[in-house]
Amino acid sequence: MLAEQKYWNPVLETIPKEKIRQLQLKKFKQIFKWAYDRSKFHRQLYDRAGIKPNDIRSFADIKQVPKVEKAMMRDIQRKDPFPYGDALCVPLEDVAVFRQTSGTTGQPVYQPDTWQDWEWWAECWSYILWAQGYRPRDRVFIPFGYNIFVAFWAGHYAAEKLGCEVVPGGVLDTKARILKIQELQATAMMGTPTYILGMAETARSKMNLDPSKLTIEKITCAGECGASIPSTKKRLEDAWGAKVYDHAGATEIGAWSFECTEQPGGLHVNEPLFLVEIEDVETGEIIEEPGRRGKMIITALDRQAQPCVRFDSKDVIEWASEPCPCGRTTRLIKGGVVGRADDITKVKGVLLAPSAIEEVVRAIKGLSDEYEVIVDKIGDNEQIKLRVEVLPEAEKQCTLIEAELVDQLRLKTNLRYDIEICGCETLPRYEVKAKRFKDLRKKD
Ligand SMILES: [Zn+2]
Repeated sequence: MLAEQKYWNPVLETIPKEKIRQLQLKKFKQIFKWAYDRSKFHRQLYDRAGIKPNDIRSFADIKQVPKVEKAMMRDIQRKDPFPYGDALCVPLEDVAVFRQTSGTTGQPVYQPDTWQDWEWWAECWSYILWAQGYRPRDRVFIPFGYNIFVAFWAGHYAAEKLGCEVVPGGVLDTKARILKIQELQATAMMGTPTYILGMAETARSKMNLDPSKLTIEKITCAGECGASIPSTKKRLEDAWGAKVYDHAGATEIGAWSFECTEQPGGLHVNEPLFLVEIEDVETGEIIEEPGRRGKMIITALDRQAQPCVRFDSKDVIEWASEPCPCGRTTRLIKGGVVGRADDITKVKGVLLAPSAIEEVVRAIKGLSDEYEVIVDKIGDNEQIKLRVEVLPEAEKQCTLIEAELVDQLRLKTNLRYDIEICGCETLPRYEVKAKRFKDLRKKD
């Protein structure tokens, strides 16, 4: 019976590592040739670097292939074949699905997919959901605004493909979504950590309802690092009385990673479908060993309409040293995506990853889930202000909380912060991805 099967794809998820590498090399050659033969954009890029499909003979040859940056994709779009430009590898009439990136870092990038690509998206998500314990008996509620961003669209299709019953919670407001979960006794849902925490807050403060008493058993989070940050994961799990799992993906890449039910403190890379390389930001060297952070260069090995070949994702990751007890042979990245290379910034000469601040704030009882970080330069002095909200029951402990924050932040980030303690519900709330980190030094 399918439902008793441990892995979505028992062959690909347990094959020996050497076999995964062979498969990746074979598929890389195919997708590289596909892009070279069919897209003017890719052919020009590779010709300039003097590399042709036949030059890829071993794994070591792959790093000679030029990377593709998001800005390059922006430049070619809104041109013929309209609106995708000449990275398109299929006739325009084969494009079945339009999506675009969320535009967090600038002008959105368009993403065309053929029907085959779209089925591939759903297949990628099937690995994720199966590994997180979704089975045909589940009733999955999807509380997101179905729109132009890919977000949980492919998760929706994958849940249907698994045989789950899927409830699209599209245009409903948060209260209506919570009531629907209650009414239908939904067992699983998907959302950004920010929104899932926000839903719990709404249930408690505006509906006098304890979300942990509802029937949700598992939650898949994506879109932000939160579900891989231990203190945020704990808040999410405590709030909903459910298991919370992380997944990282992107519109222009696909759904490339997932946490499994073992919760190994990291994400499996779906290696038979994606090639992940970690590049040292300073030297450009490809990092093979565990414990060294770098940015992710990724290839979607099967995506055809607008291929993703050595895409510079700017996601900061590192390899884990131990295999996962679940038995999957695919490699784990430790602690999920730690941040984006753009967000990891130097303050007073010290490297600061915003996720480290989140880890501290969410570990302190008496604080709400929201916070805000503002980095600024006054004269020659760089300053970091951290705004947090204290819960009504902890208002008398503000001094203690502030001291704990200062201590823990110094320990985890080696920096000093000005702490501002605000009243409950004074900081902004977010529907999808939060913007909690503001760097005012970049204003000019
Ligand atoms: Zn695992």
